[in-house]
Amino acid sequence: MKKRIAILGSTGSIGTQTLEVISEQPEHFEAEVLTAQNHWELLVQQAIRYNPNAVVIGNEAYYKNVSEALKPHDIKVFAGSKALNEVVEMHTVDMVLTAIVGSAGLLPTIHAIKANKPIALANKETLVVAGELISTLTLEHEVPVLPVDSEHSAIFQCLCGEYTNPIEKLILTSSGGPFRGKKIAELQHITKREALKHPTWTMGQKITIDSATLMNKGLEVIEAKWLFDVNFDQIEVVVHPQSIIHSAVQFTDGSIKAQLGLPDMKLPIQYAMAYPERLSTHYPRFDFAQIGQLTFEKPDVSTFRNLQLAYDAGRKGGNAPCVLNAANEIAVQAFLQDKIGFLQMSNLIENCLKSIPFEKNITLEILTETDIETRKFAEKQLK
Ligand code: NAD
Ligand code: MG
Repeated sequence: MKKRIAILGSTGSIGTQTLEVISEQPEHFEAEVLTAQNHWELLVQQAIRYNPNAVVIGNEAYYKNVSEALKPHDIKVFAGSKALNEVVEMHTVDMVLTAIVGSAGLLPTIHAIKANKPIALANKETLVVAGELISTLTLEHEVPVLPVDSEHSAIFQCLCGEYTNPIEKLILTSSGGPFRGKKIAELQHITKREALKHPTWTMGQKITIDSATLMNKGLEVIEAKWLFDVNFDQIEVVVHPQSIIHSAVQFTDGSIKAQLGLPDMKLPIQYAMAYPERLSTHYPRFDFAQIGQLTFEKPDVSTFRNLQLAYDAGRKGGNAPCVLNAANEIAVQAFLQDKIGFLQMSNLIENCLKSIPFEKNITLEILTETDIETRKFAEKQLK
């Protein structure tokens, strides 16, 4: 039986690579639902090629365009963010791959878990904002969350067969981004063109900027905490510019297991979709002798302050990671619109963390309110 996948955010970087995996493994997977926010033309092209049961266009202004274009096809068309929550519950969906960017991925993920759908999780912001809630829900519904993020996929693979063996430490690798080695003074006038050039990965704009500021690694630290049930002292970040070792686990006997491979998101995407199987691929292989050496260094958290801010917010808990995430989403957007400079992003996030009231015990309502309040506050700071 083919696994029927709902891809939330099928027009993005992870979404399109997920469709490539489906094309490569047609006997294993098929696209059951495709969704996009604005990019309706691509959504239509994908729908015609992959013939899903349903599509959702988030921005209702494009509903007519999509439904007109798909009229000759037997594909259901829905619009609006509420429709996302409904399509994931369809009985024909076997797995939900969450490739939406930002906290917009949270609600559809909650609906999918409540409908007992296994989750292939790319949308790390979901666990940053609501890690505790999501962990409780997945336990309650016995729903597996299979990481798509390459570092977390690596850790997950290292933990296979280790069952009850305690983890001493998770070692998250980071490429260091395009500005590795630069100091504060050199980062003053970074342009968005420079920041959008990632040395080893091609990704959506938001995560590319997050990688340049090291916020991506900060979000991944919080993601790892919830996925693998460790505390923040057990998560270490190591800069590894070649992005070959995707991450590692150190056990209490001192032994370290790592997962390696060429940087290609199709591998962790496919692993999450096929787990516990490994499916054969023809992708290029990593060659040790050809690369010669792999290097490692400590992250520079005094220059790239976002990583430290994320650790601090994670340790504080409550609604602090939600504030961090919302402030960062606004900061990245403002940077991409040339409203603030590269270094000001950290200032804005820090300011939000200091100003938004702290809530220790959280509910979905509190998180929703925190998200709205933080965005409002951050927008005001930009004026
Ligand atoms: P992207 O910007 O390329 O794509 C985002 C997708 O989400 C698009 O299909 C878009 O239409 C949709 N979308 C955007 N805003 C939405 C909204 N408000 N409501 C509903 N849909 C919306 O992003 P990406 O790089 O593919 O990243 C997606 C997620 O995966 C992010 O959380 C990112 O951190 C994570 N991730 C990405 C990579 C990567 O290599 N790109 C690697 C690891 C993790
Ligand atoms: Mg990653």
